[in-house]
Amino acid sequence: MKRRTFIRCVGCGAAVAATQSKLLPEFLGGIQNVCAFDYTTRLSSVEARHYKKKPEGGIECGICPRHCYVTDLERGYCGVRENRSDTYYTLVYGLSCSLNIDPIEKKPLFHFHPGTTALSIATAGCNVNCKFCQNWEISQVRPEQTRNLDLPPKSLVDICRQRNVSTIAYTYSEPVIFYEYMFDTAEQGHRHGVKSVMITGGYIEEQPLIELMPHLDAIKVDLKAIREQYYKDIVGGELKPVLDRLIQIKKAGVWLELVYLVVPTLNDTEQEFKELSRWVKTYLGADTPLHYSRFYPQYLLKNLPPTPEKTMENAHAISRAEGLQYVYLGNLRGHPAESTYCPKCGKTVIGRRGYTIYEFNLDGNRCRFCKHEIPGIF
Ligand code: SF4
Repeated sequence: MKRRTFIRCVGCGAAVAATQSKLLPEFLGGIQNVCAFDYTTRLSSVEARHYKKKPEGGIECGICPRHCYVTDLERGYCGVRENRSDTYYTLVYGLSCSLNIDPIEKKPLFHFHPGTTALSIATAGCNVNCKFCQNWEISQVRPEQTRNLDLPPKSLVDICRQRNVSTIAYTYSEPVIFYEYMFDTAEQGHRHGVKSVMITGGYIEEQPLIELMPHLDAIKVDLKAIREQYYKDIVGGELKPVLDRLIQIKKAGVWLELVYLVVPTLNDTEQEFKELSRWVKTYLGADTPLHYSRFYPQYLLKNLPPTPEKTMENAHAISRAEGLQYVYLGNLRGHPAESTYCPKCGKTVIGRRGYTIYEFNLDGNRCRFCKHEIPGIF
């Protein structure tokens, strides 16, 4: 079944959440200019990249460190890749289940073209199962369970060009699992002057990342903890490959920012904030932006309270004391730590309230007051 839906698109903050049909009319209200998208119930049959056929039959996927072994007519852990007669297919190529134009600050990327917007897309599926997931309704389901818009790479690039949106963000679920769709969109985007940013947990293998990075302009990684046990118990993944990929991204010179979600009682000790800060400073550099994000109860962690503001401020103070220069607090609207301060003169170079920039004191990459260079892409 296929239904053509005429959508008024695309103003900042306007969303087409294809996951819940009941939400659609409300999301469409107030959006400007008419575009046409197709809903589809078909899944894609595009051959996956980075897999090996096994001599004994079956395939091994090499996109992420899970290395799923998948026999005929079965799918990998992420639920969006399927073995058919030992050819491996991605089922979500060109099928966005969420479409939204967000401020780049929402990703969050604070040192990357501040004040611009990003066309944000996702497909169903994920390669981990974080107990605190905000987007579990799309990340923890199969593509048959989401409402998918037929949006091949060219359509995404065309939307950006028509609507003057400078960047595409692969986000909400885990873009690693829709690698081929992200890769081709980013490649086509670059050919037409549209940038791409990956918003990810960083649970990806080395070689796919090497090949992808030339087509990306920035990467934001959710470093969910600095303890392996937390990844095992709360994330359903591993810390070590994520740390390795962070170092790889930094060495490759792709702009990188980090988010650490502070979850009460699970990853919120002073010792962890110190270890995190020391690791970032040692391996990524003191000028790597670190965003502490406040937790709100959801999904499988509804039993925990929101992170106390005091804990957030303590994390911020520890990271600053350890020498990190750009430490931010997220989900604390109006807090002074939403803004960027020059590490040399201490003045506000980018003043933010929520996703709004109210003050901008950069000349190119330099502080307007003391000419100190601020890292990032401005
Ligand atoms: S991308 Fe999906 S199928 Fe491939 S290894 Fe990771 S979880 Fe498994």
